[in-house]
Amino acid sequence: MNSEVIDQVREGNNIVDVVSAYLPLKRSGTNYKGLCPFHEDRNPSMMVSEAKQIFKCFVCGKGGNVFTFVQEYEKISFIESVKKLAERAGIPIKDDYNSNKVASKRSKIIDAYKLANEHFVSNLKTYGSEIYTYLEGRQISKELADKLSIGYALDSFNGLMNYLKKKGVTDDIALASQLIKSNERSTFDFFRDRVMFPIHSHSGKIVAFGGRKLDDSQPGGKYVNSPTTEIYTKGNELYGLFLTKYDIAKKNYVLVSEGYMDFLRLFTEGFTNSVASLGTALTHEQLRLISRYTKNVYMMYDGDTAGLKSSVNGGLKAVESGLTVLVVSLPKGEDPDSFLLTYGAEKLQLLIDKATPLIRFIKESEGLEKSEKEKIKILMDTALKIKDSIDKELYVKEVGEIFGITQQSINTRLSKSERTSSVAKSKTSFTLERSIEERDFLQYILNRPEEKNNICNSINSDYFFEEIYKKIFISLTKIDVTVNLDSYSQVIDFLDDDSLKNKVAELILMGEPKPDILNIKRDLLLRKLKKELTYISGQIRANGATSELLEKKRNIKNEIQQLDMSIVNNLLT
Ligand SMILES: [Zn+2]
Repeated sequence: MNSEVIDQVREGNNIVDVVSAYLPLKRSGTNYKGLCPFHEDRNPSMMVSEAKQIFKCFVCGKGGNVFTFVQEYEKISFIESVKKLAERAGIPIKDDYNSNKVASKRSKIIDAYKLANEHFVSNLKTYGSEIYTYLEGRQISKELADKLSIGYALDSFNGLMNYLKKKGVTDDIALASQLIKSNERSTFDFFRDRVMFPIHSHSGKIVAFGGRKLDDSQPGGKYVNSPTTEIYTKGNELYGLFLTKYDIAKKNYVLVSEGYMDFLRLFTEGFTNSVASLGTALTHEQLRLISRYTKNVYMMYDGDTAGLKSSVNGGLKAVESGLTVLVVSLPKGEDPDSFLLTYGAEKLQLLIDKATPLIRFIKESEGLEKSEKEKIKILMDTALKIKDSIDKELYVKEVGEIFGITQQSINTRLSKSERTSSVAKSKTSFTLERSIEERDFLQYILNRPEEKNNICNSINSDYFFEEIYKKIFISLTKIDVTVNLDSYSQVIDFLDDDSLKNKVAELILMGEPKPDILNIKRDLLLRKLKKELTYISGQIRANGATSELLEKKRNIKNEIQQLDMSIVNNLLT
């Protein structure tokens, strides 16, 4: 794909329109603001600039251009985001993309996961007779194992590592995927001797694994999940959603269970509108995914106290996001998996039909171990967080009816808490800026991309001491001088590291720095000289004064003096 096409696609997709298709944006001055989809955002913290075609979250730091946004949101590669946006803008694209050359780091990691899964699945077929017996013992058929690409990680420290190497995955990608770990002594497979459940993103790509221990007497957790990587954040995906999203939309409700086995059982037994949250706390990100397909959530967690509490906590979060929540009460000691095995699908359907609306469930539940007063307090805390005012009013009305409290006393209570909570709101923390000169310099070029080649030629990376600024500078200088950088957001496509993109988006949004470029360059130089001077003085102290060192020191001092003089002269004239 050539850069002209990419430019054309970028120009054909206004970032404000694209982001608005994913989440509501509100105008705020010259920019737009919205709830950031990349962290659990309560106040709109994400800025979108139409003029600069950039987005940036000032809480979690995510930022970039229109491609970055789609990439991050959909968990897809750069090229895929270009294709998607090309389609949106009706721009035809020739598929001449050579994956080895252009593929971004992210898509390489996704490839590594795909390869790893092939490896695990083939292990299961070759060495897995024992595993199949294990799965059959848990009533998982071969067909279902196939359908969900369940696999097996060998009891080996380098089985996967060797396979990935053979397939051309480089060491740095293998390590970035976290499928391969390293310590001072060696590198080794992260998952060993485990049944492997691939975790798919909602668009169907494998982005992580859950590994189930075979022998419970062995050390290590029963389930081990992939750590966070560039393609996966724990709590951002729902297990099974890629298979069930259309049925969820069709049936217009979702059954939320806790674990892999619950999902597998539900799915096999015909409850094809299920997902598993993998971990007890349902996150706002997961709820946002759900709400694309339905507004009706049925919580179906374990029947013990921990399960009840998780149902209620997750349910209340869903209510905050405007979803309707019912709780399916399983008998104590049962989870959806065990219940289905013992009682069958019809009985479970009866429980689903009798599911209790969340507020009533909270009122009636004894397993929660809370007094009536505490329950009301929890429900009122949630009321404060409901974003939509109509949702909020309906919710408050329901709480009042179910608990037999008058609307008036609820409202008094609410307005009191609203006042205290707005006072207690925490202030945004600011990070201390250690290298203002470096930042100013980059801010200048990024906001005047057309001057890049002119400005950069007299500065080199030795002028940068702050790691991230140094990296940004190096990336900028690597951009071919013949590339005509005429749009701010274009620069972002040349960066292959997320943290760089985030920072660059921030610098672009900040606009041009106050000092002019001559002053900035002089300050950069001055600072570099002063650091060198400190270094040489240190060497002289440590190793004694050689004539060479003294000469160097004198030269640097002279240079500094001249620069200082020029500042004084500037001030006088
Ligand atoms: Zn954020």
